[in-house]
Amino acid sequence: MWVGIDDTDSLHGGCTTYIATEIVKEICNAGYDIIGYPRLVRLNPNIPWKTRGNGAIALQIGVGGGKRELIGEIEEKVYGCAYKKRDARADEIISILDKIMKNAEGGANPAWVVTEKKFSRKLYSKAVKEIVSVKEVKRTLAETRAKWKTYRKEIGLIGASAAIAWKPLNRTYELLTYTHGEKFIEKESVIKMDTLFPSTFNNYDYENDYIALLPHSPSPVFYGIRGGDVGELKKAMEMLETSEVERWIIYETNQATDEHLQRKKIEEVKPYESVIVKGKVEKEPFTIEGGHVIFSISNGAEIDCAAYEPTKGFRNIIKELKKGDEVVVYGGVRAKPFTINIEKIEVKKLVDVYKKVENPICKKCKKHMKSIGKGKGYKCPKCGAKAGENEAKYVKIERKIKPRFYEVPVIARRHLAKPLGDRVIYQL
Ligand SMILES: [Zn+2]
Repeated sequence: MWVGIDDTDSLHGGCTTYIATEIVKEICNAGYDIIGYPRLVRLNPNIPWKTRGNGAIALQIGVGGGKRELIGEIEEKVYGCAYKKRDARADEIISILDKIMKNAEGGANPAWVVTEKKFSRKLYSKAVKEIVSVKEVKRTLAETRAKWKTYRKEIGLIGASAAIAWKPLNRTYELLTYTHGEKFIEKESVIKMDTLFPSTFNNYDYENDYIALLPHSPSPVFYGIRGGDVGELKKAMEMLETSEVERWIIYETNQATDEHLQRKKIEEVKPYESVIVKGKVEKEPFTIEGGHVIFSISNGAEIDCAAYEPTKGFRNIIKELKKGDEVVVYGGVRAKPFTINIEKIEVKKLVDVYKKVENPICKKCKKHMKSIGKGKGYKCPKCGAKAGENEAKYVKIERKIKPRFYEVPVIARRHLAKPLGDRVIYQL
């Protein structure tokens, strides 16, 4: 049996995962097991009416068998089982869900879905890349005879159903901790953990001196450690010097998988998608109010790309682009202004850039000629002889960027974006 939950937490980011720990606790107390790991599934990050995180939860529940693994501590220890021996009773699970979701504080539009039959991966795929309507989700729910309930608006059904539909092709894990008390974390221990556990990622931003384990909004979430090797997460947690952790749980997630991205041609790009597009730099980078850096790429059709202020030092890389450079841009598409918000960029080919160092010299008078105007050529001040623009002396300037990938710093990284380098190991 699969359970999906979402509370489209518009005010209290991270609430959904806390509610999930309550559900896990009650389900285990009722004598059932979690099969595999609980799943934290991130969906389309560009939908404006959702929160930054846009995550929903899926759990497989039953009476389990096989190897039991410690997957968390919520008052008592929680174990995940290798496989399902027997299904859970739907009415028991539903009464647990209803009791917890009804009383959930802060959740904007909570919803749960319970189904014996797993949904097609296509639903997940669409929900992570495009826009899914409540209507199409309800069709899937009816076809599979799933049970569901919403508490206020029905929008939470989308996340709850899409989370169930996720079938991991790639996966990473996140160990999330919770507390209602003090939230103290010692920076040095985060750096040490980051160094000693190279399978973990997005822990600390060295460039911006920023601890990326901490959530952005007030919620019971204390910190989260993301990693490709699930076996290292608990050890990594134990290394951190922090105030007291009340509970922790490991989620299997689609974070850092790049599953939101679609390869597209510039003319095919639509708002709210995340795309990979190729083009040549058309408008050279310029900085607008707020410190955002904008440029455009073209293949005939043209689109603006942006490195927003929160991407910090990444903007200095972007500013080095010149007209004609060939690039592949990875990022989410904003509707207004219609722009690709860059997550990473591959510089494929750099054009040669020349700088004028000397005006042409008149062959007769041996004097430097003067410019007549930008792009109009030169004229000898003495005899009036003319020379073309290209007769001046130019030197090729060294480009500061190279043909390679560049990405936004950890501080600006999105949940779904796969970091460059070899830190993300997918464990299959
Ligand atoms: Zn002359």
